[in-house]
Amino acid sequence: MCLEMFFHLFYDVFGFVVIPHVKIYLHVLDFIGMTACRAEFPLLEPVYVRKLRAYRAADDHVHYYVVIACRIIKTYLKTIYFCINLINSFCLNNPWQNLSPEVKRNSYIGISSHRDVIMENIQVIGIRGLPLIHKGDNIASMICEHVKVQDGDILSIASTVYSKAMGYTGKLSDISPTEHALRLAKLNGEDPRFVQAVLDASADIIMETPFILSELGFGHIGVRAGVDQSNIEDDMVIFLPPDPMKSAEELRDSIRQVSGKNVGVIITDTCGRSFRRGQTGNAIGWSGFTAIRDFRGDTDLFGHVLKITEEAVVDEIAGFANFVMGESNNGVPAVVFRNCPKWTGHNDLFFSRDEDITRRALKNEWHESQ
Ligand code: GDP
Ligand code: MN
Ligand code: MN
Repeated sequence: MCLEMFFHLFYDVFGFVVIPHVKIYLHVLDFIGMTACRAEFPLLEPVYVRKLRAYRAADDHVHYYVVIACRIIKTYLKTIYFCINLINSFCLNNPWQNLSPEVKRNSYIGISSHRDVIMENIQVIGIRGLPLIHKGDNIASMICEHVKVQDGDILSIASTVYSKAMGYTGKLSDISPTEHALRLAKLNGEDPRFVQAVLDASADIIMETPFILSELGFGHIGVRAGVDQSNIEDDMVIFLPPDPMKSAEELRDSIRQVSGKNVGVIITDTCGRSFRRGQTGNAIGWSGFTAIRDFRGDTDLFGHVLKITEEAVVDEIAGFANFVMGESNNGVPAVVFRNCPKWTGHNDLFFSRDEDITRRALKNEWHESQ
């Protein structure tokens, strides 16, 4: 009986393509007088014969029930298939919807990680017209006066202006350098008071020369601890915010209070990098989304499972924001990104000390040269 069912299902699922071709072939052979060639298909022959006999054998109880069972199974499968198609055509999140036949052809393209995005139409709005920022300025309301933020926007703001508004600044003439600062200043040809400001801002020194590379309390590693002397009055230095994650969250809350809108926030700084010349914008604090978009476990266009890829989205956005801001006198301290696709991942942007092989190598090198 199982064999019977197999024959019937086989015939209907696979055989309905093969058998008609065989039949046509046989008719052609009949026509040209080579009927004997039918024996060339010994495997299909029993299927073909069974199928023809099954309907005629209604008096045979086994065959009768087999035919009925197969019909029920087939109808059941067809109904499920029909329902799935119907649901798909009405479902908004259907990844196949709105895709051209060209794209549909490659099954993996339809399985995009951003299923809900039909067309990436990201808007980038640099905020111009803000005055010079001073301690006590309410930058959330100043920004909202210049741009009508919307739910889901991502606001990137330069740490320089955030720190100026919060008073994370220092006066060089108020600083008296220690022996350590005097030694490093001589070594690197810098102002000892500035070097002292850098040492004060650092939680750990990774490299002392030819420039100071330090780790800050919140995990970021930066040249001269990110202390700036540009875009502020003479004799002044700007420090990075001591807890940029908290700052980003507070700024997000303030913007929500002022505008009623739920925006994400990234606090950026222009940073140097290893291996390449040139500085780029980096995120030092963020709120409203994860720093990393985690691709591990996702499949590429060919179905390969990704094992390593963790995209540092906040740094990518900070990099573009930095491009719009410029470095000198542009006067664009904040940039709004609109229509960015959503992502999921985690916030472990900074390596732990054990994971960070560059940091370990630099530390060893530095110790050996002592
Ligand atoms: P950093 O990358 O955070 O160190 O900041 P930058 O000094 O590179 O400045 C980033 C952008 O903000 C540049 O376009 C500056 O001209 C602008 N900027 C800096 N301070 C102010 C300010 O007080 N007011 C305004 N309107 N723009 C500023
Ligand atoms: Mn800076
Ligand atoms: Mn900059």
